[in-house]
Amino acid sequence: MKLALVGYGRMGRAVEEVAVERGHAIVARVVRPGGLEAALATSPPLGGAEVAVEFTRADAAPENILALGRAGIPVVSGTTGWGHRMAEVEAEVRASADRGAALLHAPNFSPGALLFLEVVRSAVRLLDGLEDYDVHLLEIHHRHKADHPGGTARRLAETLVEGLARKRGWREGAADGAADPGLLQVDAVRVGENPGTHVVGVEGPDDRLEFRHEARSRRGFARGAVMAAEWIRGRTGVLSVEEWLRDWRS
Ligand code: NAD
Repeated sequence: MKLALVGYGRMGRAVEEVAVERGHAIVARVVRPGGLEAALATSPPLGGAEVAVEFTRADAAPENILALGRAGIPVVSGTTGWGHRMAEVEAEVRASADRGAALLHAPNFSPGALLFLEVVRSAVRLLDGLEDYDVHLLEIHHRHKADHPGGTARRLAETLVEGLARKRGWREGAADGAADPGLLQVDAVRVGENPGTHVVGVEGPDDRLEFRHEARSRRGFARGAVMAAEWIRGRTGVLSVEEWLRDWRS
C-alpha cells in the first residue's frame, strides 16, 4: 500500500518503521505545518498515497484531516487533544465521503490498550454495584507530551463516569480540601521518556484492585495505526475503532 505520513515526529517515525516492515511504501512525508497543502498540490496529490497516517499536534490535526478529506484520501489519525472539534470534523468527512474521504481516529492505537479499554468498560459494570469501592485514574507519559490528561485517559475517564452512577464527572488533580466523592480524580504525571501507562485504581475499605496498561515502546501504537491504515483503504465516511476491531477479530 502507498502510505503518506502526515507528521514525522516520534510517532510518524515509528509508523514508518512498522509500515516498511509490513511491506508498505512511504510515498510522502509531511514534516511541518503548511507542508500538507504543498504536498496535496503535487500530481498525483500526496505522492499518490492511498491512505494518510496523521500524528501531528492538536492544533494541526483538524485542518489536516479536513484537507485530506477534501482530497478524498482516507486518514488514520492518532493525534490527541482536539476533541472539541471532533463533531465538526466528522460532519465534514461524512459530507466528502462520496469523494473517498474516510476517517478513523483513536487516542490509542495499541492493540493492548484497546483491549484494556474493553476490560475497563466491562469491569465498570461490576464496580457500579460496589458503592464503597472508590475509583481513580492515573496516567504517566514522557515529559514531551503536549496534552494532559492525554486522549486515552480522557476516554477512560468518560467510560468510568458513564458507567458509575456515583460519579457525575471527573477532575484533574486533587481538590483543595476534602475530595468530592462525586468526581473521579484523574492524575497526569509527565516524567522521563515513559511511552504511556494507565492505571485504574479501585480502592476498597479492606483491599485494592488495579487495572493497568503499560506501553513498553511506541511500536504498539504504530503497529495498530498501520493495521488500521490497511483496514481503512477502500472504506469511506467516519469509521469507529469498534468496527475496525470487529473485523480484525472475525
Ligand atoms: P511529536 O511532537 O514527536 O511529533 C509531532 C510532529 O508533527 C512534529 O514533528 C511536528 O513538526 C509535526 N507537525 C506539527 N504540525 C504539523 C502540521 N500542520 N503538518 C505536519 N506536521 C506537523 O509528537 P508525537 O509523539 O509523534 O505525537 C503526535 C500526536 O500523537 C500527539 O497528539 C500524541 O498525543 C499522539 N499519540 C497518539 C497515539 C495513539 O496511539 N493514538 C500514540 C502516541 C501519541
